[in-house]
Amino acid sequence: MVDILALIEEDIHLQRETAHELSGPCPECGGRDRFRVWPEKGRWWCRGCKKNGDAIQYLREFHGMGYREACQELGIEPQEKREKSPKPEWTPKPAGSPSLFWQEKAREVLTRSEEALWSPAGERART
Ligand SMILES: [Zn+2]
Repeated sequence: MVDILALIEEDIHLQRETAHELSGPCPECGGRDRFRVWPEKGRWWCRGCKKNGDAIQYLREFHGMGYREACQELGIEPQEKREKSPKPEWTPKPAGSPSLFWQEKAREVLTRSEEALWSPAGERART
């Protein structure tokens, strides 16, 4: 695995928070300890700008590299496009009845509409 700690420590000073986590200022948005690094997981995350990722993403975000360039810098073989896993086919769920409250309200609307239709006000609609 890439030594993400050595990579990031070239840019910023990190201090140890716990046995598994280090912190420091974010290369992008500053601060004091908002930038977190988990060397064993090979991951980083900023609490401020919410950027996060691995060593490749670090180089892309803060060193303006492209994916292939970052891979080359880190001595990683670039992964070609992964096969997309096929989407599971959509299946309709059986429809249930609307709630009793909804049914009651619908019944009220229907009754009012029917009354209006057969009242003198509904004559134009009837014709
Ligand atoms: Zn940040």
